Parts: sequence; structure tokens; C-alpha cells
Amino acid sequence: VPAETIRNFSIVAHVDHGKSTLADRLLELTGAIKANSGHQVLDNLQVEKERGITVKAQTASLFYSYQGKEYLLNLIDTPGHVDFSAEVQRSLAPCQGVILLVDANDGVQAQTVANYYLAREKNLVIIPVINKIDLKNANPEKVKEQLKKLLEIDIDVIKISAKLGIGINKVLNAIVEKIPPPTIARDKPFRALIFDSWYDKYKGAISLIYVKDGALSVGKQITSVYMKKSYEVRNIFLLRPYAENVKTIFAGQVGAISCNMKSKEAHIGDTLHLRHQPVDSLQGFKPPKPMVFAGVYPIDQTQFASLQTAIDKLTLNDSAVSAIFESSNALGRGFRIGFLGLLHMEVFIQRLEQEYEAQPVVTAPTVTYKAKIFGSKNITKYQGDTITFNNPINFPDPQIVSEFYEPMIIATIITPDTYMRKIMSLCYEKRGKEKLNKIIGNDRFMLQYVMPLNEVILDFHDSLKSISSGYASFDYEDYDYQISDIVKLNILLNGKVVEELSTIIHRSQVSTMGRKLCVKLLDTIPRQLFEIAIQAAVGNKVIARETLKPYKKDVTAKLYGGDVTRRKKLLAQQTEGKKKMKMIGKISLPRDTFINVLKR
Ligand code: GDP
Ligand code: MG
Repeated sequence: VPAETIRNFSIVAHVDHGKSTLADRLLELTGAIKANSGHQVLDNLQVEKERGITVKAQTASLFYSYQGKEYLLNLIDTPGHVDFSAEVQRSLAPCQGVILLVDANDGVQAQTVANYYLAREKNLVIIPVINKIDLKNANPEKVKEQLKKLLEIDIDVIKISAKLGIGINKVLNAIVEKIPPPTIARDKPFRALIFDSWYDKYKGAISLIYVKDGALSVGKQITSVYMKKSYEVRNIFLLRPYAENVKTIFAGQVGAISCNMKSKEAHIGDTLHLRHQPVDSLQGFKPPKPMVFAGVYPIDQTQFASLQTAIDKLTLNDSAVSAIFESSNALGRGFRIGFLGLLHMEVFIQRLEQEYEAQPVVTAPTVTYKAKIFGSKNITKYQGDTITFNNPINFPDPQIVSEFYEPMIIATIITPDTYMRKIMSLCYEKRGKEKLNKIIGNDRFMLQYVMPLNEVILDFHDSLKSISSGYASFDYEDYDYQISDIVKLNILLNGKVVEELSTIIHRSQVSTMGRKLCVKLLDTIPRQLFEIAIQAAVGNKVIARETLKPYKKDVTAKLYGGDVTRRKKLLAQQTEGKKKMKMIGKISLPRDTFINVLKR
């Protein structure tokens, strides 16, 4: 394939604006798949099907004839949720252009803006496309105005219906016409960027590579610049979108390779070269940084090894996840895992369950805090240091801390003006400070708040959706640390602190959260043979208390059918009882207690 006929591009969009549908149409039109061969070919993980979101970027190489010439179009599908902006970044590394897809009804949303800035930062050609023009309430002209106003884009927009297959050719033509071919050098020694990797049961670690210079053939010896390891190339595939074996891959192409690489060695952002022909590393991209941490433990210790194997494999599939060993009194041996956000965490856990049949106990998610330690004479260990911690167990004794710091984010929210006031008070309640409040046309506002990350990881997104009936959209990026008055809120069951239920919160929320947690636990913990005192405390000071009465045999009979909600609760508890329980001392807790108590 001549270099000038190659186009590398991604489709970026707010979630649900039709990226996967458009990707499928592009595949059909270029003959890579047959029409109606099933919905959303590129979304091939079970979680993606269930949740309808693209979690992991998938890639396809397509051939398209334009004015009598064959072009190779490398499409890189990207995830479309706030938690996965790091994956979007990664997908953009081999690209020279993006299709910025906007729903004709929904208009410009928070992720439209975020993706636009990401693409602009990387100097990519941006092709704005308005989708779903078939919808009854579609208003492409209004959306075009929004795009112009907000993004300062003053070029033609393409109007399409991905669902009905209208205008897809215009998109393909624009890709060929507007996006430049990659700058590559075929006569130079082989050089490629690893931009994704995953684990395959049969072939082991697979790396998705973008070949910048030279060529690579099966059987060659290659070396990674960062990891400094050498391998022999076993297989090379093009993804069309199904894997197609080839002997050689050339500069400008995107493909997958397998070699005797260990899972842990496939480092996204690493550069590959021929063993005896070293090259400079390609400019990679910032490795994704985990923001939210949680403990993940086997339900019983005999399953530790299999949980470890499952986590290892999933981690390879998702380099944004970091996992380190940890152990706790109540939960035994397990892992502290870092995620990009809560959805990312939920997807990861769901995949552990579905793909590896693991049933882990997951503790409440925490962000990474910092504490500056007093330079007191009595304390020598950390004197004058700043320590970091992302586990309530490691919360330092406040007596030795001069200042605590918590991580902040900038939230971008786009909303119709009807919901403005409610959203502003939600942000205020979440300790947000307004940074920007700007009209972007059609009664629509863009708000920016500086907020503690801790406040958005659990249920901010859900709250925002519910108070705006789904009309407000949200995206965020990180924004340094700020001094903060945080405390550790302990939960005691029958007088004993259960570290795994403890959380770190702002002092202003102590009494509300204390009460809320106790009530939630009262609802969640099934009755047992003995009474359980549930307490929330900061240090020695008890903030709230609830008492869970003991279980009596035939307990429903005693309710005389009077109290329906109580009975429902009991029945729910019976179902819960069939689920796996985790023993904390003598008390058994449903395995999802740790996370669920913190949610609304
Ligand atoms: P993604 O989250 O951006 O990948 O969006 P999907 O491709 O999964 O599409 C989200 C929803 O919008 C699905 O229910 C699609 O069937 C629907 N959709 C996509 N394109 C169109 C379109 O052109 N017209 C209409 N009416 N619906 C569409
Ligand atoms: Mg999708």
C-alpha cells in the first residue's frame, strides 16, 4: 500500500451519539462485513453489549475506492464515557484525524467538548459530523450553530443517519480528502508504537501496533525500547475487523502482533524496533493515571490464586488499571486496585465476574490523599515529609499532621438552562467552586466547577442525570491538590472498628454521612442470631448509632402481614442470604456491602 493512500482516524463522540453504529456502517460500506451481520461488530465484550458502551478501543483496517484509487483506512474505535478519556488519548496516538460525531437531537455535550480539545491539542484534522438526522426532533442547523459557537469550527458539517445509512459515503470521502496520510519512512529501520494490548487465551499477549517506519515480518527478532526485552515475532494480523494473518506489516499500517511477550511486558506507549537496529523511541503519550482505588479480595482465601491470575489477565487488557498486593485483618490477602473512575471500576469488576467467574469482595473506592507531617521531635519516621495514602487504613494520626490535601478536578457540565439552578446547588453541595458559567446558544449553558474528586467518584454522575432528567452532560479532568480538612469516619460493628467500612470524608459532612451510613448498613446487613450495634465514629467520638435486632425464627409470621415494607425487606434479605456472604468476625455481610453503603 503506497503511503499516500493511508488514512488513520478515530470517531470521537459523546456517549450514545452513534459512534459504534457509524463504525458498523463504515465496515459494511467498505465490504469488511456484510450488512445486517449483527449489531455493533466492534463492541465485542460482554460488558459492552450489556451496558451499551464501548469500553475498550477496537480497530479495523478498511479498503475504500475513491476516484479510482484504493485507500487503506485504519479506523480506531474509541470508548465514549468520561471514565475512559485516557483510552481515547491512547487511541488517538496513531491518528492524523478524527470524526467528531454529534447527535442532531442532543447537540454538543460535555464529551463532545472534551474530545474536541483532545484532538485539537494533538493537531488532528477534525471532521464534524451530525448524526441521527432521521429523528423527528432532529435539528441539525441548531447543532451546527452550537458547533460553530463553542468550537469555533467554521467548516462544512456533514449530516448523516448512521442508523439508516444516509450520508455514509460523504464521511468516507471526507476522510480521504481532509485527513492527511501519516508521515512514515519505509526505507528506515522498523519502528512501531504499541498503542494497545490484550490477553488472548491461545496466543498470549497481543500488542496492537502502529508501524511508523520500515517493515516487520514474522520470525524477526524485536526489542522494546522501554522494557528493553527481545522477542521473536510469531504472528502478525491485520484486523479487517476479524484477524487476518499476514507475513509482513509495513509503515503506515496498524496491526496486531503476538510474540513470546509476557503479559506484564506489553507496555502501552512503548516503541518496538529490530533487535540489532536500535531507534529513538516514538513520542508516546502520558500513561493513564489511576484516580480511584479500592481493595479487591477473594470471598475466601482458597480463591486467592485464581483471583490473582484473573486480575493479571484483565490488567493486561486494560493498562489503565494498576494492581498491588495488600492484606487486611478482616478480608485477608487481596489487592489494591487503581481505576480511572467508578464506572471503570464497575466494568472491571463485572468483567472479573463474567469472564473469570471470580466473586470478589470490593471495598469502598478512595482517592489519593496527601498529608504533611509535623516536624515534631517525637515523630521521626515521616518528619517534615508529605505522605500519600489511598486506603483509609493508612489514614495518619491527625495529631502528627499539619495539613491534609485532597485531589481536585475541573468538571465541565453542559445543560439546558431549566436545570441550571438545581445543578448549581448540587455542585455546591459537593463542595464545588464555580469557575465558568457561559451561554453556548439555544438556552444551553456550559458550567465549570473546581470540585474535590472524592465528591464525584461515587454518585455525582447519577445525581446529575437524575436532576436534569438526563439532559445535562458531564466530563472532568484532574486539577492538582488543595488543602482540605478531612477526617476518617470509622464504622464499628458491636464496638469493633471494621477498617474495611471506614471512609475518608470532609469534616463538614461528618454528621450527615455518619447517620446515612448507619441507616444504610441497617438496611443492608441481614439479621443474625445476635443483636448488632452499628456505629459511626470519628476518633473516639460516636456520631450515629443504629441497632440491628437479632433474627428470630419465623420472623415474617410475627409481622401479621401488617408492614409490607418490612416484609419486603425480609424477603430481600432471604435472597441476599443465598448470595455469597463475607464473614467479618462473627458477622456475615453481603459481599457488595462495602460499595453499596456509600451510594445513594
Ligand atoms: P455510541 O455510544 O456512540 O457507540 O452509540 P451507539 O452507536 O451505540 O448508538 C446509540 C444509540 O443511538 C443506539 O440505540 C443506536 O441505534 C442509535 N443511533 C445511532 N445512530 C442513529 C441514527 O442515525 N438515527 C437514529 N434514530 N438512531 C441512531
Ligand atoms: Mg459504542
